Amino acid sequence: MSKRDYYEVLGVARDADDKQLKSAYRKLAMKYHPDQNAGNGEAEEQFKEVGEAYAVLCDADKRAAYDRYGHAAFENGGGGGSPFGAGVNPEDIFQDLFSQVFGAGGFGGRRRGGPQRGSDLRYDLEITLAEAYFGKDETIHVPQAVPCEPCSGSGAAQGSTPEKCDMCDGHGRVRAQQGFFTMERTCPRCSGKGKVIRKPCKECGGAGQVREERKLSVKIPAGVESGMRIRLSGEGESGTAGGAKGDLYIFVDVVEHDIFERDGPNLYCRAPVPMATAALGGEIEIPTIDGGRAKVAIPEGAQTGRKLRLRGKGMPSVRSSGQTGDLYVEMFVETPQNLSARQKDILREFCDCSGADCHPESEGFLGRIKRFWSGHEDEKRAN
Ligand SMILES: [Zn+2]
Ligand SMILES: [Zn+2]
Repeated sequence: MSKRDYYEVLGVARDADDKQLKSAYRKLAMKYHPDQNAGNGEAEEQFKEVGEAYAVLCDADKRAAYDRYGHAAFENGGGGGSPFGAGVNPEDIFQDLFSQVFGAGGFGGRRRGGPQRGSDLRYDLEITLAEAYFGKDETIHVPQAVPCEPCSGSGAAQGSTPEKCDMCDGHGRVRAQQGFFTMERTCPRCSGKGKVIRKPCKECGGAGQVREERKLSVKIPAGVESGMRIRLSGEGESGTAGGAKGDLYIFVDVVEHDIFERDGPNLYCRAPVPMATAALGGEIEIPTIDGGRAKVAIPEGAQTGRKLRLRGKGMPSVRSSGQTGDLYVEMFVETPQNLSARQKDILREFCDCSGADCHPESEGFLGRIKRFWSGHEDEKRAN
């Protein structure tokens, strides 16, 4: 298999400077990174190829050797043509290069052993619509990893301290000479921490962290809606090796209400209106979300489906304080049941009233039916 020229792989001139090399590598590594190309074997090969080219060209000694001898420069190092020598996993090198160029924690970059930010936590909180109306002070219990007290998070038993790793002399990285090259990789004894624990703490078993339930009081703002998240900065899991704490996100779910439906700041409810009230006009009483009552004036001759608005009786706005939505009451006319004989008589008498003035909807409907039937007649005659 013939290897491609490293300059060609990176698409740079032979006299490219460090900045040009880095920029070219950055672009290509991003393009072929396995995280971007899951399951794409060809991209993986290309990612390795650019990694190898950059690893050689960014190192002055290796580059000089390559410029002089080409790929042959690396063929006698016992690495089967790899500039990294035998027994070294090139993936480690590519991952480290990637971290150096993109920064730890950045895209795909994983730096082992360094400070790591703690995980974010999610807490699901269910509240009622009335609680969402007033806002709420809620106490929540969050299980989380906190630094172990007896060992102050060091992981070492009382009276002892973690000792400097003698394999890497506390650096977390070890160097190995391979032919021309000096390779650096994560120390296998301390996993990059630079320290080893000889006597682990009994409380945490050497982890330096224990799981604990913490009480937190949270202010749920008035007007909060389902799906909203409240971020409590720094209330997540502890970081390791001095890394920052994660955040805690409270995911709010407002449970459905029996009477009110919500659409943003506005509330909707359906209220029955007795037939006589709808005909004569009057008043009905409905509940409001704050636990109070409101009187709704029903105009004379009101029909089912009519919406009446009560200003300012909706939900408070979580974004702009002082603003409140409206409550819309959709009325439906209720037909009376279980009438007495006298009531029925009165209704029968009432039925004598007919005509467009009294029942405008029925009159309009009858008109449409008549037109529909005569249309059918016309069609039959035409056939
Ligand atoms: Zn070590
Ligand atoms: Zn401990």
